[in-house]
Amino acid sequence: MEKTLSIIKPDGVGRGLIGEVIKRFEENNITIAAMKMIHMTRAQARGFYAVHKERPFFDSLTDFMISGPIVVMMLTGEDVIVRYRKLMGATNFEEAEEGTIRRDFATDIEKNIVHGSDAPETAEFEINYFFNSFEIVR
Ligand code: GDP
Repeated sequence: MEKTLSIIKPDGVGRGLIGEVIKRFEENNITIAAMKMIHMTRAQARGFYAVHKERPFFDSLTDFMISGPIVVMMLTGEDVIVRYRKLMGATNFEEAEEGTIRRDFATDIEKNIVHGSDAPETAEFEINYFFNSFEIVR
C-alpha cells in the first residue's frame, strides 16, 4: 500500500471542484486517509515548494497557492502515486490526456487545479508537512 499527498489548489476550491476531484478518487479505488481545508501563509507555501525556489515561476506559484483556501489530502492505495498522477494529467493541461483532471479543468500551466507527489520520498515529506499522526485514519 502506497501513500501520496493531494492538494486541490485555490483555483479548484474557488471554482467549486472539490466534489468533482474527490468523486474521481472514489471512482478509482483511491482511499482518503486524511483531509483538511487550510489557507496557507506565504512562509508555508514557500516551504512546501522549496524544491522550486530557483525556478522563475516560484514567486508567482507561491502567490497563487496563498490566493485562497486549499484542500489537502493524504491518499492511499496500490501504486497510488502513479495512478493519481495519471488521473491529474500533465503539468501543462494542453499536453494532458483527455479525461484527466487538468485537461478537463485547468486554465493555465500554473492554475492546474491539483497537486500530487511525484515519488515516495516527496510523498513522505509532503504528508508530514501538513499532517500529524493523529490526523491520519489507519
Ligand atoms: P507537477 O508535479 O505536475 O505539479 O509540476 P511541477 O512540480 O513541475 O511544478 C509545480 C507546479 O508549479 C505546477 O503544478 C504548476 O502549478 C507550477 N508550474 C510548473 N511549471 C510552471 C511554469 O512554467 N510557469 C508557471 N507559472 N507555473 C508553473
